[in-house]
Order: sequence, then C-alpha cells, then structure tokens
Amino acid sequence: MEKSPLILILLGKSGSGKGTQVNLLKDKLGLDFLGTGALLRERKKIGDFSANKIAEVIDKGGIVPPPVVFKLWMDKFEAFKNKGDEFKGVILDGSPRKLLEAKLLDDSLGWFNWDKRVKILLIDISDEEAINRIAKRKICPKCGNIAIISDSEDSNKCSVCGGELIIRPEDTVEGTQKRLEWFREEVVETVNHYESMGRLIKINGEQSVENVFNDIMKEIEKDDNN
Ligand SMILES: [Zn+2]
Repeated sequence: MEKSPLILILLGKSGSGKGTQVNLLKDKLGLDFLGTGALLRERKKIGDFSANKIAEVIDKGGIVPPPVVFKLWMDKFEAFKNKGDEFKGVILDGSPRKLLEAKLLDDSLGWFNWDKRVKILLIDISDEEAINRIAKRKICPKCGNIAIISDSEDSNKCSVCGGELIIRPEDTVEGTQKRLEWFREEVVETVNHYESMGRLIKINGEQSVENVFNDIMKEIEKDDNN
C-alpha cells in the first residue's frame, strides 16, 4: 500500500536551529516545504488589497491573521495534492502560531486525508541558550549559511561558499528578547495544546546539529515501523 504523505510540523524559538533542521530534513526525506513567512512574501507581490495590507502588517512587525494565512495554505495544499504520488509530504516551518491556526491546520490535513502521519516536533531550548547562541551567530548573505562563532575562532569567512559572514541587524539582545516574547505570546499556547493531546514530540535542541537531526529521524522512523 502506498504510504501516506509525511506531515512534519516544526516548532521552536528563534535560535533553536529550526531552519538548519528544516533544510537537512527536506533534503534527506524529499519533502516539500511550506513556510508561512515565504508564502506571505510571495502573496505581497500580487499588488491587490490583501497584498498591500500584508506588507503594512509585516512592516509594523505585526501578525497576519489566521484566515489570510489559512487561505494561502489551502491553495498550496491543493497544489501538493495535484502532484499525486509524487508528493511525499511537507515540512511546515513557522506554523501554526496561534491556537486557531493549529485547529484550522488539523481540519485541513483531515480534508486532504493527510492526518495519518503527522509529526509535531518542538526543538526545545531555554531562553538563556537562545540568547547565547544568537549573540554568537553570524550569517552569510550570499548563501544563507548560519554560523555559530566560538570564542577561539576569529573567522568571518563562510565555510560553505567563502563569502563574508555578517551579524544580522535584528540579532541584538533586544531583538532576540522581542522574538522570545513573541514566541511566548503566539506559539506557547499552541505547543501546550499539542502537548495536552499527547501529540507533541520534544527534541532536546541543546545538542549538536547532528544529534538533533538524529533524534528527529528516530522519531520519524518510529512511525514507519508500526
Ligand atoms: Zn556562504
């Protein structure tokens, strides 16, 4: 029997290494990607009322409300469905945020018959660890590589492409605290919701990239063995 598509929902605060894991998992498992941030940036280009309003909300650092996000998901899901057997599954990054989005997502997955292999993973790190990591984080504007610079190292060179690493302007302690605050306000309720249903898989995010990845793979394979 054809396996049901794998739906991976990755949750984690800023600095958890979520983005790195998304890329590793995508490559390893041949999954599609659905990032709400990317979808909204794409939607902004259309130039109609909602496009302008999305731009306005994002520029103010606000949250685009669930119905607008949900419409974009549904269109994307329909496109995935049209791929037929070629569709192996999808990684959701940065969603759901509010509790309402979690509920809408459950209904959407049920609608498309994708509710058999859903994995909800929280890459768990403390606020202290997040702040520490981000203070040491540099990124390569050329290839998007994220590097954690150790104290002994004095390198501004990207190990992937050789480009020059920079500190992102939003990666100040203040900026980080703002994002952590945002996580507490927008995401924790959703995390608790999944946890109370016994659906949340916590992954220790305070380990090396390889170990986090291995722990995630173990959880995914568990599902495939039963
Ligand atoms: Zn690079």
